[in-house]
Amino acid sequence: MGNTKYIFVTGGVSSSLGKGIIAASLAKLLQARGYRVTIQKLDPYINVDPGTLNPYEHGECYVTDDGAETDLDLGHYERFLNVPTSQANNVTTGRIYQSVIEKERRGEFLGKTVQVIPHITNEIKERIQILGKSGEYDIVITEIGGTVGDIESLPYIEAVRQLKWELGDDNALVIHLTLVPFLSAAGELKTKPTQHSVKTLMESGIRADILVCRTEHELTTNLRKKLALFCNVQQEAVIQSIDASTIYDVPNMMLEEGLDDVTLRKLNLTGAPEPDLTQWNEFLTRHKNPGGHVRIGLIGKYVELQDSYKSILESFIHAGAENEVKVDVEYIHSEHIDMATITDVVSHLDGILVAPGFGERGVEGKIDAVRYARENDLPFFGICLGMQMAVIEYSRNVLGLDDANSTEMDPNTSHPVIDLMEEQKTITDKGGTMRLGSWACELKEGSIVESVYKTKEIQERHRHRYEYNDVYRDQLEAAGLVATGINPNTGLVEIIELPSHPWFVGVQYHPEYKSTVANPHPLFVAFVKAAHEHSLK
Ligand code: GLN
Repeated sequence: MGNTKYIFVTGGVSSSLGKGIIAASLAKLLQARGYRVTIQKLDPYINVDPGTLNPYEHGECYVTDDGAETDLDLGHYERFLNVPTSQANNVTTGRIYQSVIEKERRGEFLGKTVQVIPHITNEIKERIQILGKSGEYDIVITEIGGTVGDIESLPYIEAVRQLKWELGDDNALVIHLTLVPFLSAAGELKTKPTQHSVKTLMESGIRADILVCRTEHELTTNLRKKLALFCNVQQEAVIQSIDASTIYDVPNMMLEEGLDDVTLRKLNLTGAPEPDLTQWNEFLTRHKNPGGHVRIGLIGKYVELQDSYKSILESFIHAGAENEVKVDVEYIHSEHIDMATITDVVSHLDGILVAPGFGERGVEGKIDAVRYARENDLPFFGICLGMQMAVIEYSRNVLGLDDANSTEMDPNTSHPVIDLMEEQKTITDKGGTMRLGSWACELKEGSIVESVYKTKEIQERHRHRYEYNDVYRDQLEAAGLVATGINPNTGLVEIIELPSHPWFVGVQYHPEYKSTVANPHPLFVAFVKAAHEHSLK
């Protein structure tokens, strides 16, 4: 293929219409036709990355192999495409300004007044084209966060306008995602909000090439004609995106609507075969026809907002399909449990997952949940903070080190079984300074994890400051909590397990970031399998 083609996805009328899923679904269809596709997200907020955001603000912070802390949409991109993303796939206004200001300080614009146009817009255009110029992709889809008309989106919209003009209509197109609301009092779908949002886009000099209309009801032919006429698009370019029962249905729905066809035609890409979705559809069949079900308790302190644990929930969907069972995830707020109530809350479950997290709030409930799982042979999976809680629980209740803790929670504990990593001790800045991204880990022979991964060395993604304190390793191992995954370069303990228990595994890294439809994460698959076996007892 010749030039890289660029597709921009903008949103109108309302936020939360599912731009990320539409972008990922279109990418999936294009990939299934043989194109090399990647997706990028441009976020209009001023944080340099979402790493410093509370999950309640913006949902989970996703982490890439190269250690970028990113928007959770990148997780969808990877889960759909099974291709890793990187720092270049997520750019925020904060990062754009930081880079322009650094250039200004270095004197790169010497003599010039540095302005939104052209300096900020040039930086945005450069960031969009980095992926295209790498030669790795035939098509780059760029999702513009926010809603058109927002003040903070303006430089992005202007950058898209300029790029579209520079690249030409064959090489760039704009997909505008809008809402067609149903007014129950009138019994009608309404097109006016869409007309207005297309007009807003037009005021910035951008004509939408394709409209994707989020709707609760089918769009009739008449309505499609009306939308086409008043929004200045061809009728075949009016695509309906009706509410789906699972996000994994959306690629097939877009295929039926011809979104990939019309996209390729407009980009003058011809001759590609029909999408091959065989593997995808096999997954969907398994997902939709479970042979049984398991109940997993997700113990965390951000449970009020499902987006906080997005990748974990999606990993359970992949692992459920692999095991041909439905995984019902029950959210359990760790602040609401203690040893007196724990049996009532978790005894009906088939497994518990203690979630990642930061800070003191809710940790005692997590420790009690680990204890219940350990003492009652309930499958246990601890991720990051969840693994650290398992080490603390064992130290307190098996080794008898009563005030064992992480120095994150109690800097004065006499038994810091989890302690700040050496290289973290001199760090004061909070942004982008954790141990991030992909690191190697060697698995111990004969361990659960070795049999799960079926290999000796793995690479997994990290996001933490504290670690297992090696000083306590001999004591913990002698008492039965074994370290079965070690970083080969630093000796850091990454995995602990209890061989005497049916399934008790804690990992310092985040397996949930690497689970995809094509490659369900083996640890989630094994945990769900253990929970299923528990449910049959
Ligand atoms: N707060 C813990 C640490 O920084 C765990 C982090 C996490 O769960 N991602 O080590």
